[in-house]
Amino acid sequence: MKKPRSKLGQVFLRDKNILDKIVRYAGVKDGEWIVEIGPGRGALTEFLLKRGANVIAFEIDPALTKELKRNFGLLIGDRFFLFEEDFLKVNLGDKLKEIGAPDHLKVVSNIPYYITTPILTKFIKERLFFGEIYLTIQKEVARRLVAKPGTGEYGSLTLYLMMFFDVEVLFDIPRTCFRPVPKVDSSFVRLKVREEPPVQVEDYTFLEQLIRHAFGGRRKKLKTVLKNNFGKLPFEKIETDSGISLERRGETLSLEEFEKLARSVKRYLR
Ligand code: SAM
Repeated sequence: MKKPRSKLGQVFLRDKNILDKIVRYAGVKDGEWIVEIGPGRGALTEFLLKRGANVIAFEIDPALTKELKRNFGLLIGDRFFLFEEDFLKVNLGDKLKEIGAPDHLKVVSNIPYYITTPILTKFIKERLFFGEIYLTIQKEVARRLVAKPGTGEYGSLTLYLMMFFDVEVLFDIPRTCFRPVPKVDSSFVRLKVREEPPVQVEDYTFLEQLIRHAFGGRRKKLKTVLKNNFGKLPFEKIETDSGISLERRGETLSLEEFEKLARSVKRYLR
């Protein structure tokens, strides 16, 4: 057995009770189609397949895909579809067509933590392919995803995800359940694709831009953030319009308040 490559985030789930809990919480059913990112040695894959699911897996490390082919050979091309690829570069639509899979799937994965944000960003962009996304991620990141305004964990990632997903932390997983034992604990989370955004957004691109600026200058007042990024604006009118004091810092604003501010600022931009 080869040595795990820490650069690729290779820590493997070893605790069978936790693996069983994951597939139960994810409600994996017979005949269901599941996407797995980074199957590794197949610990979770085995539990998914045992429940009768069809698994579409993306693993970047050729040494591990070799091991997976050896272990799950009989199911390959039948219920187990293994792609030796970087998930971030995959055109999901093409892959699903290639294997005749439906274009609406569930994700269940213990993802490589070093690319958590790019993976979440890909889910946002390609959310039409998914209904529910179940992930094991670093505990601190999980707390950031469900953070409330005004707390240290609250940030742009919280807000971007909130626009498209209903996020819930389901349970924590201690580091001792993995081999090699990592330096961090984990959490199992669910991202449910929203049918409707929690607030009506007028211009997503501008709202995202404003949020990025606000958290770029985390300790700065909104007036300074606006001045630095958009130049001179009628600040008093913006305050009256939006009902938001520009003396506040971005990290205290809810998504709804950011949207009100974005609408108002956009009106006065030339
Ligand atoms: N699912 C397995 C488990 O629970 O034991 C392994 C999880 S391990 C945290 C993450 C896996 O993702 C590793 O097998 C690693 O090789 C793979 N990986 C890392 N970067 C990847 C990428 N860009 N695309 C696909 N797989 C990747």
